[in-house]
Amino acid sequence: MIKSWKLLFVSTPVGALGTGLGGGVELTLHNIAQQMLQRHHQLQVVAPAGSTWEHIPIVQIPGNLQIIAQSQERTDAITMPENSLLANMWEYVHEVESEYDLIVNFAYDWLPFYLTPFCQSPIAHLVSMGSLSHAMDGIIAKVDKKFPHTLGFHSYHQAATFPGLNSPLHILSNGIDVSLYDFCPQPKQQLVWIGRISPEKGLEDAVALSYKTNIPLKIMGKLQDESYWQQICQDYPQAPIEYLGFLPTTQMQKIVRECQALLMTHRWVEAFGNVAIEALACGVPVISYERGGPAEIIQDGETGFLVTPDSIPGLVEAVSRLDEISRHRCRQQAETEFSLEALGDRCEKWFGKILASAVRSVELSNK
Ligand code: UDP
Repeated sequence: MIKSWKLLFVSTPVGALGTGLGGGVELTLHNIAQQMLQRHHQLQVVAPAGSTWEHIPIVQIPGNLQIIAQSQERTDAITMPENSLLANMWEYVHEVESEYDLIVNFAYDWLPFYLTPFCQSPIAHLVSMGSLSHAMDGIIAKVDKKFPHTLGFHSYHQAATFPGLNSPLHILSNGIDVSLYDFCPQPKQQLVWIGRISPEKGLEDAVALSYKTNIPLKIMGKLQDESYWQQICQDYPQAPIEYLGFLPTTQMQKIVRECQALLMTHRWVEAFGNVAIEALACGVPVISYERGGPAEIIQDGETGFLVTPDSIPGLVEAVSRLDEISRHRCRQQAETEFSLEALGDRCEKWFGKILASAVRSVELSNK
């Protein structure tokens, strides 16, 4: 029996929870928090002011948002805005850390990694993206060396993008409340693409496919880069696409479940791809470029297809083979591999390992 822990979750500083600006991190944090509360751990979330979640205790911190890491070059310096939200969040952590057993960092940002040796409580870092910058790679490798076990990743493909990691990897995959997603045995003739509308997500390839095949494409997600979106609309004025905005899960799944397949056409190494498991939960197969996390989620030919990256003919062929996929099998995979309970188990195991190592190092330093 695991004893009850006092956990402090520190959210991403790129957007308030509930806005979609945080991408998959929002759902991940929500689901892990929910599981920890259900398992009778005590939990407090530190998040940007304006976060809208109910049922989860949030301390709202004001300040200016951090620039998203994806928009920066590999050699760029780390930047902090005036009245930095990230700095304010970690000042709060510094004030209260002695009340907690473990701090869990959800920000893909340099500062929390840098602060790790200066905190008295152990910090678990859930790394939400692949390698994007030299400065981040350096600080992540340093934390890995000094504090083994404290880094968590979503997939092996993601972890492999970081140079110089030596301690054993903690791969948490991800999980969702499958009961929130309804199974639909018979889709309409339409496809879906879900994600932040931003260049690394490669929406233009899904639109090109929709244009070529004339199959309608539903698009959902936060519009993060307006000019990128306008360019796609200009390049494919005749494509049968419809942008529905950023929808809450209940509404989003109503659309997804009626689609023949979810398309994932990302250009970057996707760390995981929450949208893949959300589609599977509705019984919807996933057609994805074989790049990053989705390659560890999709069972090629069973619950979707893995396509040569950046190949639109590859996408067209996969769409033509969709009748080979059993939608029941898709739902079943979500239930068995990506349930909330499975995610909760993996996180508890990881947190337990960090806490045990922290106790051991205190014992050693007292000898
Ligand atoms: N999402 C949503 N409503 C929408 C579109 C997307 O709630 O209309 C959420 C979706 O549930 C997922 C997240 O946005 O959790 C996208 O995460 P993913 O891991 O796929 O990609 P990321 O944005 O982290 O790169």
